[in-house]
Amino acid sequence: MRETAAAFVRDVVRPAAAGWDEAGAYPREAVAASGLTGLFCPTGYGGAALGYPAGMEVFEELGRGDAALAFSLSMHNAVAAVVAGCDDAALRERWAGELAAGRALGGFSLTEPHAGSDATAITTRAQKDGGRWRVSGRKAWVSLAGEADLFLVVCKTADGPGHGDIAVVAIERRADGVSFPRRYRTAAAAFLPIGEMELAGAPATMLVPPGAGMRAALGAIDVARCDIAAIACGLHAEALDIALRYARGREAFGAPLLALDTMRFALADVLTDLEAGRLLYARAAERLGTPAGPTAVAHAKRFCPDAALRAAIACSEALGAYGWLDDTPLPRFISLAKMLQVVDGTAEVQRLVIGRELERMAETTDPTRP
Ligand SMILES: Cc1cc2nc3c(=O)[nH]c(=O)nc-3n(C[C@H](O)[C@H](O)[C@H](O)COP(=O)(O)OP(=O)(O)OC[C@H]3O[C@@H](n4cnc5c(N)ncnc54)[C@H](O)[C@@H]3O)c2cc1C
Repeated sequence: MRETAAAFVRDVVRPAAAGWDEAGAYPREAVAASGLTGLFCPTGYGGAALGYPAGMEVFEELGRGDAALAFSLSMHNAVAAVVAGCDDAALRERWAGELAAGRALGGFSLTEPHAGSDATAITTRAQKDGGRWRVSGRKAWVSLAGEADLFLVVCKTADGPGHGDIAVVAIERRADGVSFPRRYRTAAAAFLPIGEMELAGAPATMLVPPGAGMRAALGAIDVARCDIAAIACGLHAEALDIALRYARGREAFGAPLLALDTMRFALADVLTDLEAGRLLYARAAERLGTPAGPTAVAHAKRFCPDAALRAAIACSEALGAYGWLDDTPLPRFISLAKMLQVVDGTAEVQRLVIGRELERMAETTDPTRP
């Protein structure tokens, strides 16, 4: 699957990405033909049934091409895996095969205009109407807004504060009461539709029951955070390759740039960060689904996008003025690395998770020692 992803990046993404941006249209057909839409789904639904470590290698390859497209595939694959593993047989049979084949796309709606990092502050509300759940509220930062066919929506089922009543429901894009009133103008990747989703009594299928929703959402987000760390490493590795190609061929003061110690020192740090990032996401992938998973993922998500941004800037500088031209993807990479810092939880949110681990560690220290 890693080679499939590398071929997809080489043959499809790199030649076409600029055109997708100009058209402002999500490349649905290319994504469906990629063979990368059912990475974690069982083979019975046409998926690849990958384990997390193998899946993350696929995401690193995708990050070499376009981090925004890779992010959309991360979200889609998470949704496809949840639907393929859900208890609702009708929903599973209707959607799992379609999502795994890429004929349908999946989206995930948690964030609201007033609630981002503090996800427990969401107010989108599901209510029973006869035998059927209906959902009302406004979601923000919905990726694949208006494009995905099935959205997993995190919502409340009671009016009180807190997350004791939170559930996850599935809502079809074409259902009554679903609209996408606003599309954002973003700094890069104009092909990826991101915007607001309005829900006005939209019919929904209960996927994760009230009370279990926040834990289930955080489990899915942990996988997505690990994907993002791997995608960041792909962007990082590609930026370094571009800088090395240039620094090997460009001469200054009678020698290739790469012969200058100052250039080597700058790129040495880029390579050390890449090695560290790869180890962090690989270890996190092995720990996903275990009690050690959330902290391992937080370390990787905290480190890798920041390192990718540093790398994209350093590699752009290695090209001098040429690093600022649109002839290279480096200006775009800088913007996409910024995006990777925020999606699926900022570095500060990861530090909150790591902070809880620090508290646990502190409890096991010996108070009698200085
Ligand atoms: C490209 C893109 C695509 C996205 N796609 C989706 C999607 O498909 N579905 C979805 O549900 N969401 C999506 N999001 C939303 C994303 O998950 C949120 O943007 C993210 O969780 C941060 O929330 P916020 O932007 O509201 O920032 P806020 O929560 O308002 O935070 C603002 C700043 O305050 C800091 N901060 C917040 N709390 C603390 C704290 N306790 N301590 C210290 N600092 C703090 C943050 O780190 C940040 O720097 C997307 C975002 C982007 C950029």
